[in-house]
Amino acid sequence: MSETHESSDIQKKKFRDFSLRDPEEQSDFLNTTWCNHCMEADLGMVDPVEYELEGRVFLEGKCRKCGSIVTTEIIEDDQELDS
Ligand SMILES: [Zn+2]
Repeated sequence: MSETHESSDIQKKKFRDFSLRDPEEQSDFLNTTWCNHCMEADLGMVDPVEYELEGRVFLEGKCRKCGSIVTTEIIEDDQELDS
């Protein structure tokens, strides 16, 4: 584990369990990526970690092609789940 991000942000992150999501939803997010290193979309990511930061939800993982960190914002339509 190595964190190279700004240390001030790390403390605000609230980690979530990405594996609790629908398998379909998971593969959707894992395949819909943008890699700043490859400058290419939808290369996919591995080792996904989901977290919440300042009210927004992100998924961070490694580019399947080059291994760079890629981050996707997860936009949730239904924030209020029926209980
Ligand atoms: Zn890449």
